[in-house]
Amino acid sequence: MSAYKALMRRSFSMSDVRGKPCIICVAITGSLPRKANNPAVPITVEEQVESTHEAFEAGASICHAHVRNDDETPSSDPEKFARLKEGVEKHCPGMIVQLSTGGRSGAGRERGGMLPLAPDMASLSVGSNNFPTRVYENPPDLVDWLASEMLKHDIKPEVEAFDLSHIYHAKLMAERGQLEGTPYVQFVMGVKNAMPVERRVFDFYVETMAHLFGENAPWCAAGIGAQQITLNEWAISAGGHARTGLEDNVRLDRECLAPSNAALVQRAVEICERVGRPVANAAQARAILGLRPTV
Ligand SMILES: [Zn+2]
Repeated sequence: MSAYKALMRRSFSMSDVRGKPCIICVAITGSLPRKANNPAVPITVEEQVESTHEAFEAGASICHAHVRNDDETPSSDPEKFARLKEGVEKHCPGMIVQLSTGGRSGAGRERGGMLPLAPDMASLSVGSNNFPTRVYENPPDLVDWLASEMLKHDIKPEVEAFDLSHIYHAKLMAERGQLEGTPYVQFVMGVKNAMPVERRVFDFYVETMAHLFGENAPWCAAGIGAQQITLNEWAISAGGHARTGLEDNVRLDRECLAPSNAALVQRAVEICERVGRPVANAAQARAILGLRPTV
């Protein structure tokens, strides 16, 4: 048996994932999809809060959010983020609010302009790669600054791994004290020009997380477009956590647009049921991620 196969066998045989709560994150809006792509994409803060509430009721315990201008273009306006955070906290008690510092909405430090709001979590890209039509630029000085702001405001980062090197960089940042505790890493697969959806790569990501951070380090995974469900199935079956939502995918299947974020959450809930994993409620999700409880 090759060393690689032995590692894979070890990492998947040691834990029966049945009974292990699964966190479902709903990425409600993103920077790209518009009403023209799917009228259910929430654009205004009011629509976002309503869509998040439905997704929360369906089983999501993390809301990953970007904000938009009224013309649907991406925004990084802290005032909009503040209203969104307030609305989600009011209508979805305990739900984890994760604000995006992703690169589409603004340039440079503007991307972290909402961090003084001190949300529970924020996304943190730790390296650069290509996106479909441009470079996704995450220069070291900006990454370091975003991480320092998150430390300052007691925000748990979700490290976005578009590449294997990003997982290693999370380890380096943790060793330097730039990230507190065990980094929570999300594998992002299926973005055009970045890492494709390939099972052996996914398996190696999972194994690398255990190698760098220990067998119990939580991680999650996101797939783009039709591959969203593939990554949901892989992650839930392998003991990870799952991300869904209209940011990454606007369709239920080839013929049918997703009627809501909640419908996509429901699809992930059904996979959890099939695999025998309970869906984590907000309090359980907070405990798994080491976040402060709200009550
Ligand atoms: Zn996002």
